[in-house]
Amino acid sequence: MATTNTSVKDIFCPKCSERYDINSVLTLCKCGSPLLVNYDYGLAAENLTKDKLKERNATMWRYLEVLPVFDCENIVMLGEGGTSLLISRTIGNELGIPNLFFKDETTNPTGSFKARGLGMAVSRAKELGLKRLIIPTAGNAGSALAAYCARAGLECKIIMPLDVPAPFLVDAKYHGAQIELVDGTIKDCGERAAELVENEGWFSVATLKEPYRIEGKKTMGYELAEDFYFDLPDVIIYPTGGGTGLIGMWKAFDEMEKMGWIGSFRPKMISVQAEGCAPIPRAYEQGLDYAPAWEDPHTLAAGLRVPGAVGDFLMLEAVRKSGGTAMAVSDDELMADTMALSSKEGIFTSPEGGATLTCLKKLLKDGFVKPDERIVLFITGSGYKYMDTMQKWEEEHNTRE
Ligand SMILES: *Cc1c(COP(=O)(O)O)cnc(C)c1O
Repeated sequence: MATTNTSVKDIFCPKCSERYDINSVLTLCKCGSPLLVNYDYGLAAENLTKDKLKERNATMWRYLEVLPVFDCENIVMLGEGGTSLLISRTIGNELGIPNLFFKDETTNPTGSFKARGLGMAVSRAKELGLKRLIIPTAGNAGSALAAYCARAGLECKIIMPLDVPAPFLVDAKYHGAQIELVDGTIKDCGERAAELVENEGWFSVATLKEPYRIEGKKTMGYELAEDFYFDLPDVIIYPTGGGTGLIGMWKAFDEMEKMGWIGSFRPKMISVQAEGCAPIPRAYEQGLDYAPAWEDPHTLAAGLRVPGAVGDFLMLEAVRKSGGTAMAVSDDELMADTMALSSKEGIFTSPEGGATLTCLKKLLKDGFVKPDERIVLFITGSGYKYMDTMQKWEEEHNTRE
């Protein structure tokens, strides 16, 4: 075995503090909460120094000592992570903010940052000897799971809403996944997946229902720290669905502080959702610790159409503790800003990325974000798989210049 030299220790529950053996196959905690991975951070800091990072490849696996895989042979890699932090060339000037950045996740394998989480979950599933993985998804997570399962030689089943954009069906099929369409939302897909877990012995890698996807997503936090020379930015705007990215980055910051890489300063974490499905902003405004499910969710930004999330309390905690906020924006606004990112910055983003720009404009107007702050918008996925949606919107609004 070629050891990764990981410092992983055990698994813990952020809600009831129960601890679990790292070698067992885990889903949720007995108390119903998502589970998180714990490391020996002193050991990690000894083995992984900032100097050592300079010798490593630009993929998410450069942080091996704080990732949960033991044997290098089990790493299922397609080149995920190591994405660009781009400085704004036009929009920042127009808005009067000199330090506007885009974390460009569109270049990940399968076209979105889902590659990070599912690359990690599939690697760890392989290590634990699991053979059949299932996922309920609005699109990008299914593409990513299908690709990594194909690479790992594992069986894959994807449960999607009937109205999922066609490209998500095509790539999953090409990767050899079994596909089942459900007449409903991602929540109904989740219920169908749970049935199949129960009756057919699939293992579910649904958002936060196993502890490892978040370990992949947290690498965005590590990369951001490196991008900013370990002086974290002031504001992060993140299009939130199930919340793994937001929660993952928050965990990464905590880990880096424990390793002595950064201090106690944290960026304001800002969650943006669509007006047609905004459980997190609603719960934030109402001062709730949990987010009641959204009824009749709809938005063109498919990745944000998540009416209820098991990690809701962790998202709300990160948003509040960081001094951030949560906001809903309309589909018309986020689609217009999707086009603005393409035409003014050359970034062909999916609608979720457009939502971050709409959110930023509103926060500037409100005075919540100051023009001298260093602001990062997360461009979470590529527009290529949303081509139909985007073309239709463009024709209806006739916005071509
Ligand atoms: C899944 C997805 C999101 C939401 O991500 P979470 O980390 O689950 O909150 C945002 N944008 C895109 C493009 C997605 O595919």
